[in-house]
Amino acid sequence: MSDKIMSIDSIHELAKTTLMKFGADAENAGAVADTITMAERDGCVSHGLFRLAGYVATLKSGKVDGKARPKINTLAPAVVQVDGKNCFAPHALKAGRPALIEATKTCGIAVMPMIRVHHFAALWPDLEGICDEGLAAFACVNYKPSVIPAGGKKALYGTNPIAFGWPRPGKKPMIFDMATSVMARGEVAVAARDGHAISDGVGVDADGNPTSDPNEILKGALLAFGGYKGSSISMMVELLSAAMIGESFSFEAAVRDNNDGGPPQGGQFLFAMDPTLVRGDEDWSNHAEGFFDKIYEQDGTRLPGDRRYSNRAKHEKDGVSVSNIVLDKIRSL
Ligand code: NDP
Repeated sequence: MSDKIMSIDSIHELAKTTLMKFGADAENAGAVADTITMAERDGCVSHGLFRLAGYVATLKSGKVDGKARPKINTLAPAVVQVDGKNCFAPHALKAGRPALIEATKTCGIAVMPMIRVHHFAALWPDLEGICDEGLAAFACVNYKPSVIPAGGKKALYGTNPIAFGWPRPGKKPMIFDMATSVMARGEVAVAARDGHAISDGVGVDADGNPTSDPNEILKGALLAFGGYKGSSISMMVELLSAAMIGESFSFEAAVRDNNDGGPPQGGQFLFAMDPTLVRGDEDWSNHAEGFFDKIYEQDGTRLPGDRRYSNRAKHEKDGVSVSNIVLDKIRSL
């Protein structure tokens, strides 16, 4: 079945109207549609329209409030808490971002804990608007257990992505954004569907034994990247997204979740830094650009985000090729 070429605007329209059909108001639907559209535009297909069915499932089950109005609580001059009141995370982020940027430009560093939100997306869209203000930023989020702690046998951590963005005045920011599991669970599911074995070191079976059979991994769990080192980073994400901000660890979110196919309620941790205030002068940009030049000097290198930005340029010009399987699924909702 061939794919359909869609303009960026028509992707946004499809996402927004679909969410509104299932009870989200224009503000909530618009924020999620922005995130979905950014993913399609940058070629991150797994977090684009493909996710719409999951978002709709949570509206249908009542787990997410599609009409929520997030509340900003300034807990300290540099702590801008956003209580999403059970909205989708992009709406909470959009509501809190101006206050976070202002606090960062005043204090040099500010934290934005987001509570009672539902995160189902890539993290880089959460950082780009902050980096465009000349700020560096970090974000992480947990989910439900699917990764074992190093040495263990049972899933406890989420796939727990982390993202870090560095501003590049006059250019698009450098943002890396990665799961802390060796492989995304979705990719394991695709290998199982297509009957492919996957590399050793990706996951374990239900008894905690290493396996390269994707079907067994789906019954078992994934491993963190980089052995015990990645496992510690995943543990850090749990601490920042739960104990630090008064939200749920992945195992706690799973207990409460209704398993409707969409994201559980949980927290997201984000902070931003103003390099001019932290460093004390404006030279940070030239200094960093010289460093990036050193990376590019070596054949075979690129900066994280370069692939996305080149997809963006192409898709903004030619439109995005969207799978008809995904479109049929949306039509059937
Ligand atoms: P990838 O392994 O595809 O990429 C991770 C990062 O590495 C990206 O920033 C990518 O940049 C960069 N990169 C890739 N290759 C190179 C290279 N050769 N040189 C320099 N940089 C490189 O991502 P993951 O599969 O780990 O994660 C995919 C997405 O899934 C993320 O956006 C993540 O936030 C999301 N996710 C969300 C979860 C949630 O619960 N909300 C859970 C898990 C994942 P580029 O994009 O330009 O290729």
